[in-house]
Amino acid sequence: MNGQVYLGLGSNMGDKEENLAQAIYQIEQTGKIIVTRKSSLYITSPWGKTDQDEFLNQVIEIETEFTPLELLDVLQKIEIKLGRLRNEKWGPRVIDLDILLFGEETIALHELVIPHPHLYARLFVLIPLQEIAPQLVFPDGKGIGEVLARAAQLEDASQSIRKTENK
Ligand code: ADP
Ligand code: MG
Repeated sequence: MNGQVYLGLGSNMGDKEENLAQAIYQIEQTGKIIVTRKSSLYITSPWGKTDQDEFLNQVIEIETEFTPLELLDVLQKIEIKLGRLRNEKWGPRVIDLDILLFGEETIALHELVIPHPHLYARLFVLIPLQEIAPQLVFPDGKGIGEVLARAAQLEDASQSIRKTENK
């Protein structure tokens, strides 16, 4: 019941909505990933480095034949293809593609940590995740509702997240 893979998409440069759409198109173009659900788009105030433009965030559910490391490689190639050049930590980016969850797997490699290290603290990922997977259970057995409630208590009050009308 929890074998799905979830990806977090974010953009805060250029035509953000188009960047997210292009990323999904490129993900499907691999031929080995099927996008099964898409959240609404959420406008989020910048995190970490706050002197930059707002982010547009989305979470998608996929089915894939790729292993986690293969998926990371594919996503990083798509980030580069879509024009992600700057590697400033938490700085502006055309597109950021993160593997949030990979079924019930727990991975702690240098280059890949699953569940994504910041997942438990970022409302802008947890809220769209709950939208498309309200019954989700994390590898540690916690439900999405519980994780979200805890994150909401810890969340920096300056963080704002709002859902857009479009899908
Ligand atoms: P962030 O997404 O935290 O804002 P970056 O997109 O610049 O930062 O990612 C930096 C590194 O994070 C990548 O080079 C990648 O190896 C690593 N990483 C670790 N775990 C994950 C994950 N679950 N999904 C995507 N990248 C990850
Ligand atoms: Mg990333």
